Order: sequence, then structure tokens, then C-alpha cells
Amino acid sequence: MSKNEFRILGRHEGNQDSIRFTYRGVAFDQDCFHVVAGLNAVDTREYVEQTFRALQAAGQLCARMGAYKPRTSPYSFQGYGKQCLPYVFELAGKYGVRVISMEVTRDEHVDEIRAALRQTGDATGVMLQIGTRNTQNFELLKTVGSQRDFPIMLKRGFGITLHESLLAAEYIASAGNRDIVFCLRGMKTNFGDPHRNLVDFAHVPVVKRLTRMPVCVDPSHSVGLRANAPDGLQDIFHVAAQGIVAGANLVLTDIHPEPRKALVDAGQALTLEELPGFLEDCAIAREAYEKRRARAAAMQPPAG
Ligand code: PEP
Ligand code: MN
Repeated sequence: MSKNEFRILGRHEGNQDSIRFTYRGVAFDQDCFHVVAGLNAVDTREYVEQTFRALQAAGQLCARMGAYKPRTSPYSFQGYGKQCLPYVFELAGKYGVRVISMEVTRDEHVDEIRAALRQTGDATGVMLQIGTRNTQNFELLKTVGSQRDFPIMLKRGFGITLHESLLAAEYIASAGNRDIVFCLRGMKTNFGDPHRNLVDFAHVPVVKRLTRMPVCVDPSHSVGLRANAPDGLQDIFHVAAQGIVAGANLVLTDIHPEPRKALVDAGQALTLEELPGFLEDCAIAREAYEKRRARAAAMQPPAG
């Protein structure tokens, strides 16, 4: 894998600096740390409000909310679409959530989001999420890359190489927008059983080495189920910690007021009551990463 293939996002001599952007007052780069928790799929207004209220109580500025859901079966719930955007954005503003990661699957969704934000007086902001099923939807990548209103979260393709997924990010950047976060979310294979996907968070440092993008991990889609290890920690907590201890900059996580009633991926959401503990566990892992980094830096010979 040649570094130079990633012309814009790669690390090059004289340009080793992290991609760095501030959106709605929230800074993103390869040193930042944010948890992006929320509903996998937008639900009733009441559930959306309870979720934002819990995020505010936990001091969170970012959230996830899926309005457009690409589903394996055409008979499954497809998301509430543009009709839910006004109440989602209005409630996000009410509870101080500044950035919502929201998947888009076609060009029109970007316009619908822009219009709904305007309609709600720009109460919040949106990071356009490209899902794993669309990682190589090159026309969609060019669409989100050719606008500058919104940053982009690109998920790794679940059945393609890391190299191919990083080139997908390069498609976005080459269309004009470099405000990109790259998200690892596990690979589709039965070798990950009983987890939904095979966790690929060992690639956090690889993405950071090959490119300058902030790196996100999605423990919810990687593990896909609620299960406790004998130590009392859920597999989702363990996997999130693995990504964080390796330097992840964002953690995308499904939460729901009543997980069993979630409209999509009901098996994997944490409850709102579990959120504070999850955030605390993430903070412990982040502290461990920072200590590891400081130790490694102390071992380096002085520059020059
Ligand atoms: C999601 O985050 O809502 C989602 C559908 O994830 P993925 O694209 O990784 O399956
Ligand atoms: Mn999903």
C-alpha cells in the first residue's frame, strides 16, 4: 500500500498535519476525543427528546440519529426520512446538541437536511454519514465531497479492503471537501460469530499512519448484541475500549430509551441509564491511551 496514493488525505513529506476542522464549535482532528451516541434510527418525538435529554445531562455535544435507513430487506422499516428532520433538529437545539451524525443514501437527502436545518433556524449541525453499504457509491461520494456546508463521516466498507475504503475517502476529498472522519465498524464474516461483525479496531493506528483523518470506531455495529462478560462489562464496552486505547478519536454508539423497542438494530443499543457508565469507561480507556502515548513520546530521542 503506497502512501502516495492518498494524494490529499495521505501523510506526505512537508504535510504531516492532521486534517483539522471545527464544526459548530466542535473540533475534529487526530487528537480529539468525542463520543457520538444516539438513536440508530429516529423514533417517536418522545424517544428522540429523552435521548437528547440524556445526552445533555451527560455533557455531550454530539449525537447520532438515522433518518434514512438502508435495510437489508425491503420489508423492514426504512426510516422516517425527511418528515422527522424538523423535530430532530429542533430538539437537538433545545438540548444543546451541536453535531448530529446522520446517514444519507442519495443526493436529495443532503438538500432535505439543508432545508430542514434552515427551517429550524440552524438549531444544530449535521455530519453527513456514508454507510458501509455505500462506501463505494462513487457518485454519492462526489456529491458529499462537492459541498462545504457539512463535514462527512465515511464508514469502512464491510467487504472490501482497508485500502479500497481509504480510496473512497480520497474520492470525497478530491471532490473538494476534506472535512472527513473515517469510521471502522467491523467486517462481515462468520469468523466474528457470535458478534455481528469481526472487530477491526486494530486498524485505528493504520488509518492514522496512512492518512491524516480523525478515526472513529463503531462498537455497536461491530458487536451487534448486548452481552456481558463475566467481569461485568458488556462486549460493546470492551470493544469500544479496544478502539479507544488504540487512539480512536470518536466512538459512534447506539443508545435507546427502550432498546427492545428500537425500530432498527434493537439488539445492540445501550439504555439511557447505561450511558453515563459507558462514557466513564470510555474516559478510562482514553486516559490509558494518553498515558501510553506520553510514555512512547518520552522514549523518543530529542528532535534535531
Ligand atoms: C449506522 O450507523 O446506522 C449504520 C447503518 O451503520 P453501517 O453503515 O456501518 O452498517
Ligand atoms: Mn445498522
